Amino acid sequence: MKKVVFFSDLKMLDKALENFNIHSFSGKNVPVKLHMGEKKNKYYSKPDFVKIVIGELKKNKVNPYLFDTTVAYSGLRHSVNGYKKLAEIHGFTFENVGCEVIIDDKGVPILIENREYEVAQHLVKSPYVFALTHVKGHVASGMGGAIKNFGMGGVTKETKIKIHHGSRPIFKKDACTYCRVCSEVCPFDAIEVSENNWIRSSDSCFGCGVCVDACTTNALSYEDTNFQYLLACSAKACVQGKNVIYLNEVKRISRSCDCDPFAGPVICPDIGYLVADDPVAVDKASLDLIHDVKANIFEKENKVNPIKQIEYGEKIGLGSSNYSLVEL
Ligand code: SF4
Ligand code: SF4
Repeated sequence: MKKVVFFSDLKMLDKALENFNIHSFSGKNVPVKLHMGEKKNKYYSKPDFVKIVIGELKKNKVNPYLFDTTVAYSGLRHSVNGYKKLAEIHGFTFENVGCEVIIDDKGVPILIENREYEVAQHLVKSPYVFALTHVKGHVASGMGGAIKNFGMGGVTKETKIKIHHGSRPIFKKDACTYCRVCSEVCPFDAIEVSENNWIRSSDSCFGCGVCVDACTTNALSYEDTNFQYLLACSAKACVQGKNVIYLNEVKRISRSCDCDPFAGPVICPDIGYLVADDPVAVDKASLDLIHDVKANIFEKENKVNPIKQIEYGEKIGLGSSNYSLVEL
């Protein structure tokens, strides 16, 4: 059974990290994987909090640097220099947080479950990694936690696109009864069904796969496979064989992710912080604590059940959802 440490006062951070052999990170250059927020997003992990975490790592003689990857869509985070500029605007500077910011745009292909994922080169070459994850909702995976921080955030633009496109639906006209169920469940109103016609807007489709799961006649199938499965595999490509400590900040739990300029509103009261050495355990514990306060809140808000990424993660050996919670 995996240990997950829960605390609500940041003064307990040192004790939480001691549970996961932080001393073994001493003397190492360690990427701290962090989403530094899309322009106009208000909910990402803030520099004041990050500074405390970086300070704690440095107290343990770790040489940390903040780390993230460029994104596929247009905007400042599309390029290395643009992302660095936005990180600076959001307050992620050496002066504010106590370490450098490195943005990666190049990857190394890694094979997981017969598919290739291009993992950011800094992650590939670092045997020690620290994951700092803001837990929130996500339009295509229900929730974004540690699995998503790596599964989408640890890979190149090309792999990000591949994952998003992999779970878009393919339509088989002969099997369709034009029941309209797919159109009713689509969170983005991307499908229009009329008496004898089925249309999907590729501009509106986020590839969440909800329509494929809802169609009972097999008229819809994935371009490749389920989005949350691809996320879990991609996360495994990023972290397998490494020493990773995962810190989930379960606060400012917004409906949508830190990539979304309009991610609000906050849909659940603040929970606290969780630390583990297993991405599946820390995400399952985060989800369970959120559900204790607001049952099935992500599914209600985003029409996508986030549990699949946890189940798939367990199935492919990314980690275990069987955990015991230790409260400090
Ligand atoms: S749910 Fe399936 S059968 Fe019904 S309209 Fe959509 S594709 Fe056709
Ligand atoms: S994959 Fe998701 S967003 Fe795309 S059409 Fe299906 S339900 Fe809508």
